[in-house]
Amino acid sequence: GSTVGILGVGQLGRMLASAATKLGFHAAAYGPGAVRSPAGMAAKPFEGDYLDVDAVTTFAKRCDVVTYEFENVPAETAAAVAASGTPLAPNAEALAASQERLREKTLFRDLGIGTVPFWQVDSADDLRTALAEAGPSIAKTRRFGYDGKGQARLTGSEDADAVWRELGEAPLLLEGFASFEREVSLIAARARSGDIAFFDLCENHHEGGILARSMIPAQADDRLVQQARQASKAILERLNYVGVLTVEFFVTKDGLLANEMAPRVHNSGHHTLEACSVSQFEQHIRAVTGWPLRPAATLRPSELLNLIGDQVNGWEKLVAEPGTDLTLYGKAEARPGRKMGHMVRPL
Ligand code: ATP
Ligand code: MG
Ligand code: MG
Repeated sequence: GSTVGILGVGQLGRMLASAATKLGFHAAAYGPGAVRSPAGMAAKPFEGDYLDVDAVTTFAKRCDVVTYEFENVPAETAAAVAASGTPLAPNAEALAASQERLREKTLFRDLGIGTVPFWQVDSADDLRTALAEAGPSIAKTRRFGYDGKGQARLTGSEDADAVWRELGEAPLLLEGFASFEREVSLIAARARSGDIAFFDLCENHHEGGILARSMIPAQADDRLVQQARQASKAILERLNYVGVLTVEFFVTKDGLLANEMAPRVHNSGHHTLEACSVSQFEQHIRAVTGWPLRPAATLRPSELLNLIGDQVNGWEKLVAEPGTDLTLYGKAEARPGRKMGHMVRPL
């Protein structure tokens, strides 16, 4: 049978692997610590560094298609896959556009998708100038941020040199602070044929920069849903995208603003497994293997609750609740801020 290769060894990789095996594919996961990783529980594990081009090439040659579960796959890794002759989906351009916040927001703007005002910051001096214009804002490192890491909330009166140092003297994006009513995400898939299927919007609540709770479907009027779908479709088509794409939005009184995108399945969509006619994981595997998509209707409105750090303690009680669907990622250590599992309940 064919093998789906996954770059990345976390819980998203594991859920992708399960969906792949459900459809009769073999699944293989590549990354450091693969053997004892969440993905290694469901996929054949391949230990290796992402920058070890030879190992990546060997891995890719064993696979019929390679995909990824995180957007920080280095460009060198994507290039090694491309050179191996095995297709990478989503493609390297989609990866590059999603892993650098300036490129990402510039793409949104070029496509006419609303965003907060933003400033390119490459020095403490740039930051000083931008801060004076922006006022209340958030400075974000342009690469490698997730779960709110690499960000600083600012009033505009901070010492630019100090903020620049605190964020590691790395290229930044300064974003105007959005006063939003709600946050939503749109998970969509584009097939090789060009067909697109949208899930319902998810409504997301963060605590300390980390997703805590998500509900599907979000409360949203039709105009909002159409606006989000149009934005997602424009991105998918511009990038000639194949796979699942997630776009995060702020709902403001002036409409929808795109915050960021993830070229992959997303934490806010874990409940698509229980709630929808097809899961985001199966939809992604279908797309990257050239299969047709399925309609992604919500059959049972549901909420998702992340178990972060020591919130996983007491899971023995949760697992006995008849109305709770518990998933544990099998991570040994419950470090603060680490996603350990989640639960899904009908709404
Ligand atoms: P993720 O884990 O979703 O990848 P991330 O670290 O890439 O997160 P963002 O999604 O950009 O970071 O920001 C995290 C959260 O911080 C957002 O979901 C939102 O609640 C808040 N936030 C980010 N940017 C802004 C902004 N410009 N204005 C107001 N709030 C913001
Ligand atoms: Mg992000
Ligand atoms: Mg985000």
